Amino acid sequence: MTLTPADLPKAIRHYIDGTLSDSADGRTFSNADPASNDSYCEVASGGPADIAAAVASAQRAFEHGPWPRMSPRERGRILNQVADAIESREDLLAEWESFDTGLPITQARGQARRAAENFRYFADLINALHEDAFRTSAQIGYVVRKPIGVAGLITPWNTPFMLESWKLAPAIASGCTVVLKPAEFTPLTASLWPQIMEEAGLPQGVFNLVHGIGEEAGAALVEHPDVPLISFTGETTTGQTIMRSAATGLKGLSMELGGKSPCVIFADADLDAAVDGALFGVFSLNGERCTAGSRVIVEASVYDEFVARYAERAARVRVGLPRDPATEIGALVHPEHYERVLGYVASGSEEGARLVAGGGRPAGLPEGNYLAATVFADVTPRMRIWREEIFGPVVAITSFEDEADAVRLANDTRYGLAGYVWTSNLKRGHRVAQAMQAGMVWLNSHNVRDLRTPFGGVKASGLGQEGGAHSIDFYTDAQIVSVALGDTHVPRFGARLDQEA
Ligand code: NAD
Repeated sequence: MTLTPADLPKAIRHYIDGTLSDSADGRTFSNADPASNDSYCEVASGGPADIAAAVASAQRAFEHGPWPRMSPRERGRILNQVADAIESREDLLAEWESFDTGLPITQARGQARRAAENFRYFADLINALHEDAFRTSAQIGYVVRKPIGVAGLITPWNTPFMLESWKLAPAIASGCTVVLKPAEFTPLTASLWPQIMEEAGLPQGVFNLVHGIGEEAGAALVEHPDVPLISFTGETTTGQTIMRSAATGLKGLSMELGGKSPCVIFADADLDAAVDGALFGVFSLNGERCTAGSRVIVEASVYDEFVARYAERAARVRVGLPRDPATEIGALVHPEHYERVLGYVASGSEEGARLVAGGGRPAGLPEGNYLAATVFADVTPRMRIWREEIFGPVVAITSFEDEADAVRLANDTRYGLAGYVWTSNLKRGHRVAQAMQAGMVWLNSHNVRDLRTPFGGVKASGLGQEGGAHSIDFYTDAQIVSVALGDTHVPRFGARLDQEA
C-alpha cells in the first residue's frame, strides 16, 4: 500500500495580493508526513518582510477594494461558492489532511465537510443579521456594525483546514480582509486555499496566506501595527506571549487555548453509552483535541467495572496507517510532539498511576509516531498526567465518592474549556454541568457542536468566544448613531446676559 498521495506539491508558497510567492529572503523549511517522518516538500518560511507585504495587500483591499462595501447578500454568495469549491475537493482534502497530520482518513473527511459548512453558515448568518435600534421620546440610537480591518488569523495543527475555515469564514463574512498564518507542522491543505478563494471569486487581496514558524511569521503578524485584530487558536503559553505582544497595539484578541477537560460518570449513567462517549472523547482525532475529555472521573461504586470495560475496549482501538479507513488512531503529528506525549506516559508510571492499556508503540508499526490508546487508572490530582494537557491518546481515570467530590475534581485544573457529564438523574446532570468551570458542557452526549452556539473556554482555556453571532461581534466594531427626534434642548453655555465676561 503506497503511503504518498499522487500530485503532492514539492514546494508550498505564500499567497500575497493574489500571487503565489517565495519568502523575501528565500528561506524554506521541510515538511514530513507523520507515518514515516520522511520529508516530502519544502515550505516557504515567512518573516517580517512577507508579513508586511501580506498586511499591505490586505489593507489595500480593505481601504480601496470592493469587499467591505459589498452587500451581505453579495458577500454571502461568494462564501457559498467557497463552500462549493471546498466540497468539490472533499476527497483530495481528506487525503492530504490525513497524510500531513496523521489523522485517520475517516475523521479527516468529516473535517473537510465541516469546513464547507462553516462558510455556508456564515453566508446565512450575515444575511439574517440585524442591527439594533434604541428609541426614547427624544432620540433614536441605531447601531452600525463595521468590519474592523485586517484580521490576523493564527491556527494550530490538530485539525488545520477546519480550524482555518472557522476563522476565515466569519472574518471575511464580516467584511474584514485577512492574513492567515497556518501551523508549521501542517501546511499542506492550507496550500489549497488560494485556488479555492480564486475559484469562488473572492476579490484580490482579501485573503493572504503566509507560512512560517510561529516565533517568526506569527510574531511578526501579531506585532504589525496595521493589524488591529488577532484570532488565535493554540497553546495557552503561546496565547500568553501573544497577549503580551498585542498589548502595545491594544489589539482585539480572541484566544482559544488549551484544555484538560473532565468527563464525570455517575453510577446511574447508561454505562454502555458512557464508555463509548469517554473513549471517543479522548481517542478521536488521535487525542489531539482541545476539548478531549482526558480526565475521566467515575463514581466509586462502578469504578472497577468501568475501568475494566474501558481498558478492554481501549486495548482494541485500532491504531494504524492514517489513510486506512479502518484506522481509529493514526500517527501523532510530529516526532517532537510524539516524544513529548511519550514523556507523559513515562511520568504516569513513574508517579504511580496504574497503566491498564497501551503505554507504547503498537506491534506492526515499527516507524512513524504511533502510540497505542493509553489508559491510566488510580490517577491522583498531584500527578502531571492529571494536571497538564497531553494532547495525545492518553487518558487519566480516577474515582469520586459523592457529587460535591465529583465537582471538586472536575474543577481541579487551571483549564476550563469543556466538560462531560453522564447520569440518568437529569436534575443532578444540570446541577453538575452548571457547577463545572468550563465554557462548554455536554450532558449524556459527546462533543457535537451546533455552529450557532458560543465556543470558547474560561480560566486558562481562553478569552472571548467565537461561534455564531459572537464571531461577527469579534470581527466588527459596533457604532451607535444617536439622532434627535424633536427639538434639541442643549444646555446653553455662555448664553446668560447677566454674567460679566
Ligand atoms: P501552538 O501554540 O504551538 O501554535 C499555534 C499557532 O501559533 C501556530 O500557527 C504557531 O506557528 C503559532 N505561534 C507559535 N508561537 C507564536 C508566537 N510567539 N507568536 C505568534 N504565533 C505563534 O499550538 P499547537 O501546538 O499548534 O496546537 C495545539 C494547542 O492548540 C493545544 O494546546 C490545544 O488545546 C490548542 N487548541 C485549542 C483549541 C480551542 O478551540 N480552544 C482548538 C484546537 C487546539
